[in-house]
Amino acid sequence: MNLVKDIVIVGGGTAGWMTAAAMSALIPANHRIRLVESDLISTIGVGEATIPVIRGFNDLIGVDEDEFMRETQATFKLGIEFRNWGKVGDNYIHGFGTVGRDQHLAKFYQYWLKMYQSGQADELEKYSINTMMPRMGKFMRATREHGDSPFADIAHAFHFDAGLYARYLRGRAERQGVVRTEGKIVSVAQRADNGFVEAVIMESGERIAGDLFIDCSGLHGLLIEGTLKTGYEDWSHWLPCDSAIAVPCESFGPLAPVTRSTAHTAGWQWRIPLQHRIGNGHVFCSKFMDAEEAERILLSNLDGKQLADPRHIKFKTGKRKQGWNKNVVAMGLASGFMEPLESTSIHMIQTAITRLLMLFPHQGFDQADVDYYNAQYTREYETIRDFLILHYKINQRSEPFWTYCREMEVPASLQRKIDLYESNGRIFRDNEELFAETSWLQVMHGQGLRPRGYNPLVDQQSPEAIADLLQGVKEVVRNCVEAMPTHEQYIAANCKAALMS
Ligand code: FAD
Repeated sequence: MNLVKDIVIVGGGTAGWMTAAAMSALIPANHRIRLVESDLISTIGVGEATIPVIRGFNDLIGVDEDEFMRETQATFKLGIEFRNWGKVGDNYIHGFGTVGRDQHLAKFYQYWLKMYQSGQADELEKYSINTMMPRMGKFMRATREHGDSPFADIAHAFHFDAGLYARYLRGRAERQGVVRTEGKIVSVAQRADNGFVEAVIMESGERIAGDLFIDCSGLHGLLIEGTLKTGYEDWSHWLPCDSAIAVPCESFGPLAPVTRSTAHTAGWQWRIPLQHRIGNGHVFCSKFMDAEEAERILLSNLDGKQLADPRHIKFKTGKRKQGWNKNVVAMGLASGFMEPLESTSIHMIQTAITRLLMLFPHQGFDQADVDYYNAQYTREYETIRDFLILHYKINQRSEPFWTYCREMEVPASLQRKIDLYESNGRIFRDNEELFAETSWLQVMHGQGLRPRGYNPLVDQQSPEAIADLLQGVKEVVRNCVEAMPTHEQYIAANCKAALMS
C-alpha cells in the first residue's frame, strides 16, 4: 500500500501558504507537511483583489474576518468598476450578488430588459444593492435583521496586501504544525520505475523526500513543467495581454469599495485601494505597446504619490495540460494563469485546494481520482476564460489592439452565449460555472451589447405591474444604501488596521 503521509509544498507565495494553512487545518494529523521557499526567489507580489467565495475559504480554515482585515490592511470589495471598456467614456460596475428580485416565471433582469428596450427602465445598476453601494461610497455586511430586504443580498469580498496575507497564513500554518524550510531547490529526484517525484534537493545538499508534492513555485512550474514536462495550452490568441507593470501609491480620496479597471489603448489599469496604500498595475499586450509607453501611462494615471519602483512581469495566458500529473498537483501560477481582470486566480487556488481535499489520495494514487481532478480543473479554467474574453470581444474602441480583440474568433462556447443573449436576452449558467447570469448580464450590457428581443415569458405580467416591480426595487435599494455607513466608517468601527511604519 502506497500511503501518502509526507506532503511537500514547493513555494511560499499566496498559493503555497493558502495550501499549507488549509491542509494543516483540514487533513488528519498523521500527515507531515513541509513547505519549501527561497528568500532569493521572490513571490509575484501582486494578487490583491478577490471575489466573495474567498469568505468560504476563510470560514473553512477558521479565519476571523475582522482579524484578517486588520492583519492584511484589507478593505471591502463589492465588485469592479470598468471605465472606458466598451468605448472611451463608458463606466459600469460589475457588482457581486443579485440584481433586483427574481420572479416565479422569469429572472428580474428579463423584466428590466423588456422595459429598458422601450425606454421605461433606468440603468441596470440602479436595481442592485452591490452596484449602488460603491456608487454612493457605502458599505456594510449582509444582514437578515431587516427580513428579506436587499440588506440580505449584499455580497462582499476583499482587497488585501498579498505579502501580509501570506505572512498571516504562514503564522496560522506554522502553529498548525507545518514545517518551513528556507532555501533554493536545485534539482528534483524522480523514481526510476514510474517517474513520480521522489525528493527535491536543496542548494545546501539537503534532500526533502515526499509522497505528494504540491507545486506552488510560480509561473515557471518547477515540478509540474520543469520536471514532469506536463505541457501548456497557450490561450494568448484569445487573451493577448502578456505583460504587467505593478506599482503602489499613497492612498487618495474616499476608500472605494470596488476595484477599478480602466481600459487604455492596448490593455487596462487596475486600482486596488487598501487601508495603507493603493495597489496599481497596467496589464498590456507587448505586440501593441512597448514597456516604456506602458509604464509612462501607468505612472501618469496614479491617484497618489508613487511609493516604489515599478515592477515588470511577463506571462503567457493559458493552463497546464494537467493540473495533477503523477504525484504532483500544481496550484496558483504553477497551474496556469489568466489575467487578473475578474480577480479569479486566488479563487482558483482555493478551488484547487478543496478539489484536492475531496480527492485526497490517502491510500495512494488512483488514476480515476487524477482524471476527475483534471476534468474539473479544465472545465473551471475554460469557463472563466470565456468570461474574460467577453470583456475584450465586446468593444467599440478604435485602437488596433481593440480592433484585433473585436474581430478575433472566440471559443464556440462563448460565441453561443453571445448569440443567445443577442437574440432574446437569454443567459444560462452552464455546468456550475463560477460567474452567474447577473455577472454575464452586467458585462454584456455594460460594454454595449443589446439584444434584439426579450424573453416573452415576461409578457405574462402587464407593463404596469412590471413598472411597479422595477420602481419598487429601485426605491428600496436606494433607501437601504442611504441608511448605511460609508466604507471608511464601517472599517473604522469594525476592522481598522494599525498604521504601517
Ligand atoms: P509566487 O507568488 O510566484 O510564489 C512562488 C514561490 O515559489 C516563492 O515563494 C518562491 O520563493 C518559490 N520558489 C520558486 N522556485 C523555487 C526554487 N527553485 N526553490 C525554492 N523555492 C522556489 N490574483 C487574484 O486573485 N487577484 C488579483 O488581483 C490578481 N492580480 C494579479 C496581477 C498580476 C499582474 C499577476 C501576474 C497575477 C495576479 N493575480 C491575481 C494572481 C496571483 O498573484 C497569484 O495567483 C498568487 O499570488 C499566487 O502566486 P503563487 O503563490 O502561485 O506564486
